[in-house]
Amino acid sequence: MASLYEIPIEQINGIGTKRGQLYRKLGIDTAGALVRFYPRAYEDWSNITSIQDAQNGETVCIKASLASPVRQTIVSGGRILSTVIVSDGYSEMKIAFFNNRYISSMLKTGKQYLFYGKAAVNYNIPEMINPTFALYGASESVPIHPIYSQVAGLSTKHIEQSVRKVLDMLPETVKDPIPENVRRKYCLPPLKDVLFAIHFPKDMEEAENAKRRLIFEELLVLVLGLSSIKSLSLERSEVVLEKNYTDEFLSLLPFTLTNAQKRAIDDCINDMTNNDKAMNRLVQGDVGSGKTMVAGAAAYTCIKNGYQAAMMVPTEILAQQHFQTFSEIFENTDVKAELLTGSMTAKQKRTVLAKLADGEIDFIVGTHSLISDTVVFNSLGLVITDEQHRFGVRQRSTLLSKGKNPHLLVMSATPIPRTLALIIYGDLDISIVNEMPPGRQKVDTFLIDDSVRERAYGFLIKQIAEGRQCYIVCPAVENSDTGLIGVEEYTEKIKSGALRNCRVECLHGKMKASAKDEIMNKFVNGEIDVLVSTTVIEVGVSVSNAVIMMIENAERFGLSQLHQLRGRVGRGKYKSYCILVSNARGEEAKKRLNALCQTNDGFIIADEDLKLRGPGDFFGSRQHGLPELKIADLAENIEVMHEAQEASKMIMNDYLNPDCGDYRSLRAEVNMLFNNVGQKLN
Ligand code: ADP
Ligand code: MG
Repeated sequence: MASLYEIPIEQINGIGTKRGQLYRKLGIDTAGALVRFYPRAYEDWSNITSIQDAQNGETVCIKASLASPVRQTIVSGGRILSTVIVSDGYSEMKIAFFNNRYISSMLKTGKQYLFYGKAAVNYNIPEMINPTFALYGASESVPIHPIYSQVAGLSTKHIEQSVRKVLDMLPETVKDPIPENVRRKYCLPPLKDVLFAIHFPKDMEEAENAKRRLIFEELLVLVLGLSSIKSLSLERSEVVLEKNYTDEFLSLLPFTLTNAQKRAIDDCINDMTNNDKAMNRLVQGDVGSGKTMVAGAAAYTCIKNGYQAAMMVPTEILAQQHFQTFSEIFENTDVKAELLTGSMTAKQKRTVLAKLADGEIDFIVGTHSLISDTVVFNSLGLVITDEQHRFGVRQRSTLLSKGKNPHLLVMSATPIPRTLALIIYGDLDISIVNEMPPGRQKVDTFLIDDSVRERAYGFLIKQIAEGRQCYIVCPAVENSDTGLIGVEEYTEKIKSGALRNCRVECLHGKMKASAKDEIMNKFVNGEIDVLVSTTVIEVGVSVSNAVIMMIENAERFGLSQLHQLRGRVGRGKYKSYCILVSNARGEEAKKRLNALCQTNDGFIIADEDLKLRGPGDFFGSRQHGLPELKIADLAENIEVMHEAQEASKMIMNDYLNPDCGDYRSLRAEVNMLFNNVGQKLN
């Protein structure tokens, strides 16, 4: 199996250079990757329906022979239409194929075929358009057919044939990454059988069993990867801090910290001054709970002990805001803070990089630029990532690798129920900041429908007249078939309609980074009244003059996400509002949205979200930074996940022991999933 990963996909018989590119588009670059490219669905041909019983709109398999020769005509647009009447001995059906000139040579009178497709009834005549078919009794008429994800120019049939060829190349015995004892305990069939069964199962039960084993394997690999990252930090850190400077830091602040902030800081300092292992901590707290100061305190103690600290944030604007904050706090100290972002000139960057390398800079705040190869630290002691859900485990590790096992602090404003946090952040210890700074105003939240839209716009106009600013969030960038209005069209509509006297601009993720930054800067500077955007503004930017967050099609979002969006307002001294617009009639949708009107506590909302919608939203849109999975679904496969966690504990010690050769193929899988982050591990 391992060696199949060394055979480029182009070398498989029938693929070649040109088709190879299409396979690569699907992420299949080697023969090994092809057998690991699992079907996304199956067609079940084992259940043969009579033509008479085929219901309109139902996908069925019928067994029939030709009752007329194939007729070919040219229809509008120059398309070739081939039609044929078939019979199953009792009734007849009309079958039509578009754009396949070979149909007449493929279907012969006197032979029986299986036709698989969607049945329709047109003027009382049963018909089927573009079915897949196979000669009855031939090798392709196996009962279950795999269906693969496709790209233009590459059919699922072609992928199926190539998979068959590669499966034939599998050696007599395939090394199984899952150790024998784990396989026995969880009743998992061996890898080779499973690879055949997932592509060409005898029946759906066999497909399900194969799928379960592959999900287990993938989750085991994920858990092991995360645990090994954690175990790395179990090594004794070389960054041992002698003294705690928290009190000194507190004296620099214009306010006193909340108890929750103090507790989180204590956790961090304990981790960093305890010289058993490096800190590996997640600070979770609602938007506005003051996590930045927790990071600041940790950084200060680290710096005062003679090390550098780095803080990575997902956007340029956020980097600037944090830099500004810390420059003010550290103004009368000897701590030297700097900024590093992609938009700086090459010369500016060079200066910063040089100072960073020889230790003149103590604290660097930056974007992804921080992980580039040119960034070298003198003595990196602490890595902080803000808005963790926007970064991958991989990016975090890259920054960490720039120091000698430095401490790690990650911050997230997405409250996650504890059970799920254990999975997503399986590699981290957790502190929770569950208290707001005093005097924070509650954001009043209303649920409205279209009938009062004009009044809502009137409210926006009134606030704008008083000098305030507003956000409007739409769920989609472009108009879609789902009836959602896209953010661009929406912007045009209100610009020439209800809000024509306001300064309205549009912002979305498909815009260039520089264009996004420009719009965002204008909003920060008060040059825009209404910012219409997709959820790109969800990340921790603070505009204290913005007082209204209006969210269109609110039922489209998860509660936690809505709560995040709401956190963009109520950040200054002005009374703030969140207006949820939804025409959804369902009781459940209303219940969810009303929950948001009733509380401002992100953890209560997260629990509610989990109860009402299941864990999907927390794992959705890959906002957790975990590697992409092929077959497992973190939201669906919670139970298998628990088994995998249990199994990983069983084998962890041996797995981490480099002399245990038995785990070589499992380690290879882990490295593949984490894209070799773990090289250091093995
Ligand atoms: P988040 O947890 O969302 O990152 P921030 O750290 O950005 O929150 O804090 C939000 C605002 O609250 C900032 O303007 C910050 O200066 C202020 N703040 C933080 N802690 C306190 C406190 N203990 N008392 C008063 N204001 C605070
Ligand atoms: Mg923040």
